[in-house]
Amino acid sequence: MQIFDLVDRHPESIFSKAGFYQRMMEFSMRDEHFKVQMFRFVDVLASLRRGSDIVQHLDEYFADVRNGYAPLIRTGVSLARIVPIISGKFLRWNVSGMARQFIAGRSPEDVMKTLRKKRRQGIGFTVDLLGEAVVSEEEAAEYMGRCQELLEHLARETRGWTDPLGKNSELFPVVNVSVKISALYSQMNPADPADAIAHLAPRLRPILRRAKELGAFINFDMESYAHKNATLELFRTLFTEPEFRDWPHAGIVIQAYLRDAETDLRDLIAWGRARGTPFTVRLVKGAYWDYEKIKSTQNGWLIPVWLQKPESDANFERLTRILLENESIVTSAFGSHNVRSIAYAQALAEELRIDRTRFEFQLLYGMAGPIKRALVDMGYRVREYSPVGELLPGMSYLVRRLLENTSNEGFLRAKFSEHVSATQLLRDPGELVNGVVPAAGRGGLAGDTPASTGASDFSRNGATLETPPGDTYKNASLVNFVYPECQEKMRTALREVRARFGQKHPLVIDGKEIWTDKLLKSVNPSAPDEIIGYVAEAGIPETERAVKAARRAFETWARTPVEERCRLLERAAVILDRRRFELSAVEVFEVGKAWAEADGDIREAMDFCLFYAHQMRLIGYPRLTQNVPGEESYQHYWPRGVALVIAPWNFPVAILCGMVTAALVTGNAVIMKPAEPSAILGSLLMEVFQEAGVPPGVLNCLHGRGSVIGAYLVDHPDVEMIAFTGSREVGLRIWESAGKTRPDQRELKRVVCEMGGKNAVIVDSDADLDETIVDTIYSAFGYQGQKCSACSRLIALEENYERVMHRLLAAAASLRVGNPEQPGITVGPVIDETAYHRIQEIIEKGKTEATLAFQATNIPDKGYFIPPTIFTDVKPEMTLSQCEIFGPVLSVLKARDLDDAIRIANDTDYALTAGFFSRSPANIERVKAELVAGNVYVNRSCTGAVVGRHPFGGFKMSGGGTKAGGNDYLLNFLVPRVVTENIMRHGFAPETTPERRAEFLWPPQLNAGFGTARRA
Ligand SMILES: Cc1cc2nc3c(=O)[nH]c(=O)nc-3n(C[C@H](O)[C@H](O)[C@H](O)COP(=O)(O)OP(=O)(O)OC[C@H]3O[C@@H](n4cnc5c(N)ncnc54)[C@H](O)[C@@H]3O)c2cc1C
Repeated sequence: MQIFDLVDRHPESIFSKAGFYQRMMEFSMRDEHFKVQMFRFVDVLASLRRGSDIVQHLDEYFADVRNGYAPLIRTGVSLARIVPIISGKFLRWNVSGMARQFIAGRSPEDVMKTLRKKRRQGIGFTVDLLGEAVVSEEEAAEYMGRCQELLEHLARETRGWTDPLGKNSELFPVVNVSVKISALYSQMNPADPADAIAHLAPRLRPILRRAKELGAFINFDMESYAHKNATLELFRTLFTEPEFRDWPHAGIVIQAYLRDAETDLRDLIAWGRARGTPFTVRLVKGAYWDYEKIKSTQNGWLIPVWLQKPESDANFERLTRILLENESIVTSAFGSHNVRSIAYAQALAEELRIDRTRFEFQLLYGMAGPIKRALVDMGYRVREYSPVGELLPGMSYLVRRLLENTSNEGFLRAKFSEHVSATQLLRDPGELVNGVVPAAGRGGLAGDTPASTGASDFSRNGATLETPPGDTYKNASLVNFVYPECQEKMRTALREVRARFGQKHPLVIDGKEIWTDKLLKSVNPSAPDEIIGYVAEAGIPETERAVKAARRAFETWARTPVEERCRLLERAAVILDRRRFELSAVEVFEVGKAWAEADGDIREAMDFCLFYAHQMRLIGYPRLTQNVPGEESYQHYWPRGVALVIAPWNFPVAILCGMVTAALVTGNAVIMKPAEPSAILGSLLMEVFQEAGVPPGVLNCLHGRGSVIGAYLVDHPDVEMIAFTGSREVGLRIWESAGKTRPDQRELKRVVCEMGGKNAVIVDSDADLDETIVDTIYSAFGYQGQKCSACSRLIALEENYERVMHRLLAAAASLRVGNPEQPGITVGPVIDETAYHRIQEIIEKGKTEATLAFQATNIPDKGYFIPPTIFTDVKPEMTLSQCEIFGPVLSVLKARDLDDAIRIANDTDYALTAGFFSRSPANIERVKAELVAGNVYVNRSCTGAVVGRHPFGGFKMSGGGTKAGGNDYLLNFLVPRVVTENIMRHGFAPETTPERRAEFLWPPQLNAGFGTARRA
């Protein structure tokens, strides 16, 4: 209460600056839509150069605002249009003013004014350099240099400054610098903390050494959860080194909103005791709550943060107790603006008889001024977190602060804006936690442990005969490699798979293992002298046998109840989940995928199983076509017959599994022919289905040469449909050949054909380059550019060209190229020797028509490694612009304006994926309407389609317009039928007709009990 009394003595609004900022925040708190538009406008503003652009964006963002301020805004926009230069300046000035409220200075020189002023108020500082998003090693090195300069400058300028409290000042050096760890290394990968430490430690040592000489304090800030473990490990590693072991002036942040926080803190304290030198922990709640929740939900991960605000508050208090009870080894810095959290620390310190000069409170610059003043008056040590930097790099920091200040859950809004009573604000958070809290990440999205991914819980997709399914599909989870146990499982799997190299795999025909006298070998593209294993090669006799088996099996399988077929897929998903690390490891060896890419492939396969089962339950039962008295007409589907599945090697389990499951669940018998370079994975998928209980002959696995058995099967009169994913050349041949009707052919062959792309990403002049560069680099070079969705043309507008290119080339130069057996590699080998030579030839030819702007040099000499390559001065008609390369080669084209960019993007034979980076709502809408591609991605990478969420597939020469993972995909594998019965007898008819009924199966199955009856 004392703090509140002191605070209320100097009444102040939540925001110390009046005017534009205050009004904006008030609007924002009252209107969520306005808030989103306003923060987005603020986010883009710093990157706009011309007044007219600023006015244009203002118009676009606020044109549809419909609240009480709409007339005001519209008048403002109209006025702004008259003299855009002046209005642009005015707006920029206002937003800069808003940023200045949170940013203590533009440069180390500039910040000193603020620090001196605060010193007079008895407030210390920790300075943080803005610019946390680094996309290249060049930018990381620059950040390191800026940290060193900052340190020198602060030490020089504060010579003679003393601690405001004097007592116990040895624990609290005057100069205190907060460092963002991720800004010192651009390639941090959660799967590879050792690599992060190996790169970060050499950058940090000189900073720490100098800080030690200057008597300064260094704090490691904590960022997103993906970097948490590496940051903690780095801290322990560095400060255990002999040089820093006895140095007490190091600190790290613990985020109380994390469920792991207590374990991490206890581990740190145990480490500190073993080290024997005090260190500091800044306890905060955490700044990335929304991000963590969204990211985990998208990936099906355990959600690492508490989901109720009072849980974070209560945890903050628990951790406060742990810190204070261990104050002999750990010095506490409480980073909060919440008076309850602060008061709890004060009361507990008093109870534990800890002198108030032995810990400190830290608060952010520009926020909660009255609380700082109250704490100083009460004799506590107060330090202000003071960010330094220009507006543009500071934007994400500014937006975080704006969100925090307007959050419904936040203390500051409650106290200073909504004037909630002190009694309410001081309530024990433990009492406010609402009911039983679900364990991390449950809510049906993820498994029980970090490494279990919940595929066995397919009941969540719960379409059963009894409960009609909803239309919301929940995806299987990705493995989160941030957890050491997941890293360990992957390492173990890699070891075990390596130990089995050389195994032989048979053909499977009619449920029997068949060996032939010919074996095909599969090699490791990272080390072609390593043979992963062998598969039996089918010739024409085996192929003929497989067709016969499939034909026979079809007769029964087609009449097997839908539910039974769905359950087969779901059992397969469970087995895939159980074997996912093993299968991922085989992918690393057999096709050169990086860890996360391999896992993504297995996840997608699981999703295909679960999603198609879910979809089949939706369409698998006869459905009433129309409600008329006296007659019932039901539409339903029959399978087509024998389906041939020809799959590619680039998504060796997922695409094969997707086509196979679609065919199986719809009642077709299948002959699958895995791609030659990924034959072992094909055999392993066969094993999965055998274990799941696929009946003999329903799924047959043939390995062999496409030109021999593939061509034979395509033309076979007993094959009714072909599902193909692969090159345009082969796809078109299949399309043509299947179009011919041959003697004895019963059906017109249906072809589902997915081919390549020449995908373009357009970068608008106002794009957020931090995101653009990271996502484009990933789209172009992830899995070595061997995804059909990969970005192979980057189209930058003239206006932005130089800025984009500078950062893009530096980012490409920072990529980790190597054997993907190591975690954290982004670019591995291309698939085989043929691809290697073909891509090399394209690069050589490219050099004659365009400018080779970048080619990596540091690549392994063994294996099929193609260095990431970027061409500039590429023209739309060049081979580099038109032909699919399927390798790590990016062509950059310059466009005059957006019209030109869209024209270039659309000017190819293909229409698969396309991307656009922009912060102009109008341009985004235009591009959504005009880009010619099956999958258009805005402000994100153009690869990584998720089943159900991004139904995938293109048109023109990219494919037949079908959408794998979409809700109409299964129809390609089916023929529709309608059965009509006159149910009137002598003028009398039943009053109701069921909307759905049991399948037309003979003999009938015991599966009655369908949905609601309709009154005719
Ligand atoms: C000096 C200083 C340094 C900081 N350094 C860092 C840092 O290095 N890394 C970092 O991540 N953060 C850091 N922060 C914390 C962060 O930026 C916020 O300022 C802080 O979380 C706000 O907490 P509060 O106690 O002031 O306010 P309160 O209003 O009491 O708490 C708000 C916080 O509660 C949590 N929360 C909100 N909604 C929910 C919910 N539904 N369920 C669970 N929890 C919820 C969030 O963490 C949110 O920020 C720092 C803060 C300060 C003051």
